[in-house]
Amino acid sequence: MRVAVVTGPEAVELREEPMPRVGPDEILVEVGATGLCTMERRLYLGEKRFYPVAPGHEVAGRVAEVGAAVDGLPGSPRVGDTVTVDLLSRCGTCAACRRGRSALCKAPQGGALSDGTVSFGAGLSDGVVVKARQAYPTGAAPIEHAAMGEPVACVVHSLRLGGLRAGDRVAVIGAGYMGRLHLALARARGAGPVGLIDVSAERLAEAEAAGAAWAATPQDALARGGKQDLVFVTAGAPGALETAIELCDDGGTVVLYGAFAKDQRSEVAPDAIHHHELSIVGVYSQEPEDWQEAAALIASGVLATDLDALVTARFPLTDVTEALKLAATTPVYRVLVSPR
Ligand SMILES: [Zn+2]
Ligand SMILES: [Zn+2]
Repeated sequence: MRVAVVTGPEAVELREEPMPRVGPDEILVEVGATGLCTMERRLYLGEKRFYPVAPGHEVAGRVAEVGAAVDGLPGSPRVGDTVTVDLLSRCGTCAACRRGRSALCKAPQGGALSDGTVSFGAGLSDGVVVKARQAYPTGAAPIEHAAMGEPVACVVHSLRLGGLRAGDRVAVIGAGYMGRLHLALARARGAGPVGLIDVSAERLAEAEAAGAAWAATPQDALARGGKQDLVFVTAGAPGALETAIELCDDGGTVVLYGAFAKDQRSEVAPDAIHHHELSIVGVYSQEPEDWQEAAALIASGVLATDLDALVTARFPLTDVTEALKLAATTPVYRVLVSPR
């Protein structure tokens, strides 16, 4: 089978690799589509220098083979199912896993190709082998929607830790891909008005077309949207936390979804949090229960229009370099790569 390996900044090659063997509790997934996320963009641009590496962690495909120990197990994927795949290792043994917070698993992540090349998913390929418990059926949903399983699971996690309740007034800072997924999922879960905040007039217009109740720049947000029960920060520009706290009504919650520069600092008045009973929650990654819900939401079709609008471009695996270049150098929602 073929697998894309990034060998240096702006250097990608398609290698031949033996099809991985399926263990007793594993399945083989023929890849149908793989999304390009921040990790892939940073590796391609050389912002994260870790070479050679086989990236691609937003994977969906068709189950081609099922290991003996999980074959026919109720709820477990069967041959022919379309599945979205969780490629995070969750050791089940470390302190984070034991507390049910496997998003923060302390075990080393990533695997290896047959020649030892490090794999961060290796989903830009013809096939992946995963534990059956880490593949979630997406029913009759299109493969492109199934390939959004990982980011949708991250947003399910974000809404869960943020404590979203139906009727809540919600603002989302950042109208990029993750901001738009927050809009789609919050609406699907019965949120009250959901507003989007961004500096790009184009993205604000697209967010309104996608169902945002209001769209505003950070300066205009309070006047346009008023006070909020929940504010999700999906674009960690300087000042975003301050804007989020200003927007929060009494008893509200700020969710810091990402991504933030490591050296970024904010001035926060403790009294604003104390006196108004605000909560500030950090969220990162996803957990199995989030995957279960994400796959079910995708399968239900309730997100179909939203997910369709977020596919910016599709490329065959043979053009993976072009796909990475587009994703890394232009503002996109999602670029998808398909081996077939
Ligand atoms: Zn991702
Ligand atoms: Zn762990």
